[in-house]
Amino acid sequence: MLARKMIGKVLIALILVVGVGVGVGVGAGAAHAFAPLEKVIDQAEAIRSSDPKSFLRLLKQLEERSDEADAEQRERIEYLKAYSLVFEGKIDQAVTSARALMASTKDIDTKFRAGVLVVNAYALNRQFTEGLRQLESSLSLVNDVRSRDVRHQGLGVAALMNLQIGQNRQALFYSERILSDKPDGRTACLARQVQLDAKHNLALLGADDSELTRGIEQCTREREPAAANFIRITLAKKWAEQGQRDRAITMLQKHLREVEATRYPHLIAEVKALLAELSLEKGDMGAAEAYAQGVLAQSGNLTSTLPLVKAYRTLYEVAQQRSEVEKALVYYQNFAEADKAYLNEVKARELAYQIVRQETLQKTQQINLLDQQNQVLQLQRKVDQQAAQNNRLIVMLLIVLVASIGYWAFKIKRVQLSLKKMAETDALTGICNRHHFTIRAERALAECARNGEQAALIMYDLDHFKNINDRFGHGTGDWALKEVAEASKGFCRRIDVLGRLGGEEFAILMYGCDLRAAARVAEDCRVRLAQIDTRETGHVFAITGSFGVTSSVQSGYSLARLLSHADRQLYRAKHLGRNRVCVYENESEAVRAASNVLELPQRERSEHLGA
Ligand code: GH3
Ligand code: MG
Ligand code: MG
Repeated sequence: MLARKMIGKVLIALILVVGVGVGVGVGAGAAHAFAPLEKVIDQAEAIRSSDPKSFLRLLKQLEERSDEADAEQRERIEYLKAYSLVFEGKIDQAVTSARALMASTKDIDTKFRAGVLVVNAYALNRQFTEGLRQLESSLSLVNDVRSRDVRHQGLGVAALMNLQIGQNRQALFYSERILSDKPDGRTACLARQVQLDAKHNLALLGADDSELTRGIEQCTREREPAAANFIRITLAKKWAEQGQRDRAITMLQKHLREVEATRYPHLIAEVKALLAELSLEKGDMGAAEAYAQGVLAQSGNLTSTLPLVKAYRTLYEVAQQRSEVEKALVYYQNFAEADKAYLNEVKARELAYQIVRQETLQKTQQINLLDQQNQVLQLQRKVDQQAAQNNRLIVMLLIVLVASIGYWAFKIKRVQLSLKKMAETDALTGICNRHHFTIRAERALAECARNGEQAALIMYDLDHFKNINDRFGHGTGDWALKEVAEASKGFCRRIDVLGRLGGEEFAILMYGCDLRAAARVAEDCRVRLAQIDTRETGHVFAITGSFGVTSSVQSGYSLARLLSHADRQLYRAKHLGRNRVCVYENESEAVRAASNVLELPQRERSEHLGA
């Protein structure tokens, strides 16, 4: 009984979801404890609206056998359980169960179906805002729903909800979506009913009645008398509007028995309310009153339906026309109350619609805003990446720059060093050239002078060198010069300075050395030169030199003076017959050769030219 009242309450909303049940015809008795679980679930699904008692019994069986169920079957049983809770009017529990199923399932169809069930539960409870909110959310899944039936269930509920809240365009949209999606006959009939109602409200029905009569025929064929008669109500209203009131009354009266047989309170109330209204217009007070009373009888404890408002208004008018003042007053009060309740309900639905619409708009705006923010963030990230890449490039460039600066600095330094070396050394012998010898010798002399140390200068010139060039060639002359330089190095310490002053003339500045020691070094050097083995040139000849020696004690620390005095002694050595050492001794300038003539073998001596 409770279930029936609820169906009446929610108007048509549950028709699509619950299924009218006519023609389902699967005997619940066929299911027994040993039937395969899948079959029992199928049966429970099939009879869930047509045979609530058997359905509840089957559901109990299923719950007892839930151990046997696999994951998918368990979800189907959960759905049926939530469905039964809606049916029993346990709306809060039903919503909780269906929501739990929505949250846990991975199957879109199941999620969608459970969502639609929640919508119906809320509609039954007159929680329009929540219902519309859930509808909005479930409809976002509709394109992914695989099962056409499940899809149509959801779209059907969307169409009906919108029709109820006066959103005729939306109702039309959803019902036509079903109709264009190859619905089965029964679903097509139900969708058609909503479509025609919405079209009538929008004044979109054509002048002729063919659309409506075809809908009635279709629903009759599908054995959906309730739907067929809802369409008849629309047709009757249309006729009445067109001035064919009697025709409308006749048609409605003709099918009144059929209407009552459906036992749908809402349908019966609608038809009777319309008949009451039309009869009143016609002036048939008796009929008007009877139909209006019929509406009251159907309405039970309902207070906010349009048929009820119409019925009370009819009764009030009838009483007034009959001058039954007291009755009229009571009916008027009832009418006013019902009208107020109905208007409140309409307002509540309208408000719910506006709230959800606003929320949806806000959500869309938020999504757009988030999208924009996301774009900005992405752009920012790109910029950051670009900047990081640029930084890397700059660092790399700097590294390359520093490396090449380093490389070039190194190269330049090397070039500078080699240039310096070139500028300082004699290219042939590798010892100091005259210029560099002068610089280093002056520095050493200054240091000796500072430290109060002596310094000595040995100067020597090869004897008859021109003859070597002339006889053995310039190359041999060069070779001899190199050999002399190499041999001379052997008599120099690191602090001494050896230089080629030009041609075949050399000098050694001896740091911290007195005249006597320098004379000994000169003598050793002279002997050493004479011992140079010239055979590798292919010739055997003697290399001798004439040496002049002076020191700071005799000549002071001026290099020019030292050179001049040593040169004078060198000249003297030449003059005295060459191959000897002459030492500068202040005024006397006596010759102090450590040895005079080099003892050469006879053969070599003969080769020593000019001797
Ligand atoms: P003296 O004993 O009087 O010094 O006779 P000398 O032949 O050594 O003297 P002279 O000044 O007449 O000749 C010097 C020669 O040294 C002339 C020049 O050709 C030669 N000479 C100068 N520089 C070089 C050089 O770099 N290489 C070669 N092979 N010969 C050189
Ligand atoms: Mg010379
Ligand atoms: Mg010479």
